[in-house]
Amino acid sequence: MAITLPELKYELKDLEPFLSETAMDLHYNKHLKTYINNINTLILNTDFFDKSLENIVLTSIGPIFNNAAQAFNHAFYFSCLKPITDNKNTIPKNINNLIELNFGTFDNFKNEFIQKAVNNFGSGWTWLVQDTETNKLSIINTSNADTPIVDGLNLLLCVDVWEHAYYVDYQNRRKDFVEKFFEYINWDFVESNLK
Ligand code: FE
Repeated sequence: MAITLPELKYELKDLEPFLSETAMDLHYNKHLKTYINNINTLILNTDFFDKSLENIVLTSIGPIFNNAAQAFNHAFYFSCLKPITDNKNTIPKNINNLIELNFGTFDNFKNEFIQKAVNNFGSGWTWLVQDTETNKLSIINTSNADTPIVDGLNLLLCVDVWEHAYYVDYQNRRKDFVEKFFEYINWDFVESNLK
């Protein structure tokens, strides 16, 4: 079964002024589309063809892993975002309580997440993950296509810190991008990921 481009719950222009339509169009219709085209070419006539994208990520290495994981990470990242429809972006109770339990305050969490993303050297991703055995939340960085699901961690939130994710609108100012990202987080999606 071919992997398809994940559907967005918003229009490409709807994340402005956080991300311009031009930047979102490049990111979604060019970068993500290319990973998906590549993975579909690579899995053709292989045992991976009938597997889900997540399953491919968990069982592959090399170019198949790189393209599948990038497709998977991007689908997750785009789901973490939502347009601002009013002035307040309310954080649901369960995820808010768990963040406070693990980081003291929401602001501590936010500052730590931003620092971690700014210091993620080179291309990669910054994640909020849940260890479902201990219920502990952590902020972790991965490089290139790497994704925490290979370590059995439950994904809650992520930001793409590859330069293509922010360079069109923020040039070298990754910190400004990640700070603004916080205003556009879909916290209902984050909470729905809790296990
Ligand atoms: Fe990206």
